[in-house]
Amino acid sequence: MIEGSCLCGAVAFEIDGPLSPIQYCHAARCRKASGSAFGTECAARAADFRFTRGEENLSVYEAPLLNEPPAYKRRFCRTCGSPMPVEMGNAPWVVIQAGVIDSSVDARVFRHIFTGQRAGWFEIHDELRQFEARPPPEGRLPSDEDMQG
Ligand SMILES: [Zn+2]
Repeated sequence: MIEGSCLCGAVAFEIDGPLSPIQYCHAARCRKASGSAFGTECAARAADFRFTRGEENLSVYEAPLLNEPPAYKRRFCRTCGSPMPVEMGNAPWVVIQAGVIDSSVDARVFRHIFTGQRAGWFEIHDELRQFEARPPPEGRLPSDEDMQG
């Protein structure tokens, strides 16, 4: 069982199943939403995920569509602003900002995406794979391979 929560503790969630590997997303929207150099994203199957507390305290922001669906969507605690797990379109998984997970997890960071939008003041100093923009469809989170175990 993996547990997570927001900064103020009003909202909490649980995940029964595996997590995908973690990716750093340097897209401008992820930088703004996180206030940091990149978003730190992983995914879990929607069927394995549930909020255990504070669902009534959540808000959703859906940004205007840029190129292709699904729309960029953020869910957050209305009290403290922590980003909370959210579904993207009709996909059967939720995207989780890894920093809100409380449990210790085995998932590891495996790549950078949207490095074409990377902040000029941030340099990448690791050997992880980099994608200028969105990875090809077969490489998006989570692939079946990612979700095994
Ligand atoms: Zn909160």
